[in-house]
Amino acid sequence: MPSPLLTRITHALHTFSHAAGFDVRRCTACGAPCTPEKSAPLMAREDNSPLCEACADSMRPRKGGYCTRCGLIFADESLPPAPCADCLKNPPVWDSLTFVTVYQNDLRHGMLRFKFHGALEQGAVLGELLAERCLENRKAIGTPDAVVPVPLHRGRLHERGYNQTLELARPVAAALGVPLMQHLLRRTAATPHQIGLSKEQRNRNLQGAFAADAAARGKSVLLVDDIMTTGATIQAAVQCLRTGGADAVHVAVVGRTPDMIAR
Ligand SMILES: [Zn+2]
Ligand SMILES: [Zn+2]
Repeated sequence: MPSPLLTRITHALHTFSHAAGFDVRRCTACGAPCTPEKSAPLMAREDNSPLCEACADSMRPRKGGYCTRCGLIFADESLPPAPCADCLKNPPVWDSLTFVTVYQNDLRHGMLRFKFHGALEQGAVLGELLAERCLENRKAIGTPDAVVPVPLHRGRLHERGYNQTLELARPVAAALGVPLMQHLLRRTAATPHQIGLSKEQRNRNLQGAFAADAAARGKSVLLVDDIMTTGATIQAAVQCLRTGGADAVHVAVVGRTPDMIAR
C-alpha cells in the first residue's frame, strides 16, 4: 500500500508531466505532439509509430510520375507510372522495383536519423511504409521465397551497430508472410562511400563486393535496400544473386533520389 505522501507525489508528477506534454505521443519523424486524433491514418497496421499529418503527407507513397522499372522520377506526379525511354531500350537487371517515394524532405531527414543517429523507431516507420507499398505492388512482386536485405560489410556493421536494411526488411517480410533470409547474400568487401564517384568508379568499387549463398539457387528473392541513387549497388547485388542461380530478383527501396544520373 503506497503511503499518502507517495500517492500525492506520483499524482503531482503525473499532472506536471501531462501539463509539460511529456506523456503526449510524439510524431516519430519530427517529434511534434501527435495525439490519436491528429495522427494521420497513413498505414493500415498503425501501432506504435504515429506520424503527424505533415510528416504523413510528405512520406505518402508517390502515386504517379515515375518509371515503373527504374523509379526515375518525372516532374509531373499526375502522369500514370510507366517505363521510361531508357528502360524500354535496356530493362534493368531486376524483375520489379517497389519504392515508397522521392528521397527528399521528411523522408530524407528520417532516413538520415535512422542511418546515422541510431533512430531505430524512425526505421520502423520507414519499414512499415515500405511493407505497405510492397503489399500494394504484390501483383508485380508475386510471392517471393525470401526477403533479403542488402548486406553491410562487417566493419560498417560494427561501426553502426545495426544493419539498416535488415531493420527495413523485417516488416516487409512480416507483411508479405515471406521468410527473411539474410544469409543468401554476403558482403565480401567493404566498399568506400560511393558519394561523388562516377558510374565507372562505383562499378569498379562494387566488383566482387557481394557473394551469393548456394541456397539462393532457384529462389525468387525480394532484395531490400534503403535508398536507390544510381542503382549501382543494387545492380551489383542483383547480378550476384542471379549469377548465384536466383530465378527472380525483385527490389524494394524506401527512397528514390530525384536527381538521377542517366544510365
Ligand atoms: Zn511529424
Ligand atoms: Zn526507367
